[in-house]
Amino acid sequence: MTKPDVRPTVYVVGAGPGAPDLITIRGKELLEHADLVLYAGSLVNPEILRFCRPECKTVDSAPLNLDEQVQTMVDAARNGKTVVRLHTGDPSLYGAVAEQKALLEREGLRVRFVPGVSSLQAAASVLGIQYTVPGETQTLICTRRTGRTPVPQSETLPALAAHEATMVLFLSSKQAGRVTQDLMDGGLSPETPAACVYRATWPDQVVLRSDLRGLAHAMEDRGIDRHALMVVGRCLNPEGTTSLLYDSSFSHRFRKAKS
Ligand code: SAH
Repeated sequence: MTKPDVRPTVYVVGAGPGAPDLITIRGKELLEHADLVLYAGSLVNPEILRFCRPECKTVDSAPLNLDEQVQTMVDAARNGKTVVRLHTGDPSLYGAVAEQKALLEREGLRVRFVPGVSSLQAAASVLGIQYTVPGETQTLICTRRTGRTPVPQSETLPALAAHEATMVLFLSSKQAGRVTQDLMDGGLSPETPAACVYRATWPDQVVLRSDLRGLAHAMEDRGIDRHALMVVGRCLNPEGTTSLLYDSSFSHRFRKAKS
């Protein structure tokens, strides 16, 4: 018989994009039981902390370095506390959880992940689109422009633009003009539909629709240079395509095609 895993556990939970009711039920239940919640104050909506018990300690991770964050979690978990590390959106995208996981495991802790609704999905819902469009594109590229965090040479924006897939740009709105120029340099037409979603699902959300040529100006006009996603591709303006999944000539596991 395998022994039960009794290691102290840290739960890395996706908080969702902003609106407090977009956290998962599993994430909310963990917050309701938590003794310590470490959260990124700049991006996580503090309203979500209302799910915590009054005696739960909530700590903004912003002023703490990585070692201090890890130590805070290790001390609490070893004392039998329920520890939640709350991440904006989904923890798998542009977070720093991999290094935290490695350090926590080195201290003998167990790390469990709870997914969240990413700003990626929130932006699609706000725009009322699907990123993959039958007959147009079946590929979604999530990326960022190079900045303080370097991007590999094979993943520069002109190189990625050549795919003509849907592109969603994180962490790049400060460089919106360079982003759109890079994409046009990579071969995308200046008329390619483009959009920006600022603070998707927050009360002050802003949605801008434009084309590649005009997007950076539109963002500049509204003073948007952070907390926004840029979306580029024909998916924003598909031409009357229908999904093959519901087409009568297409068979799948649950339905036979009509000949
Ligand atoms: N893990 C997060 C992304 C963290 S990186 C997620 O899954 O959404 C932070 C970047 O995500 C921001 O610079 C911005 O580009 C994007 N972002 C996060 N929340 C957002 C929101 N509510 N609306 C628009 N963009 C958002």
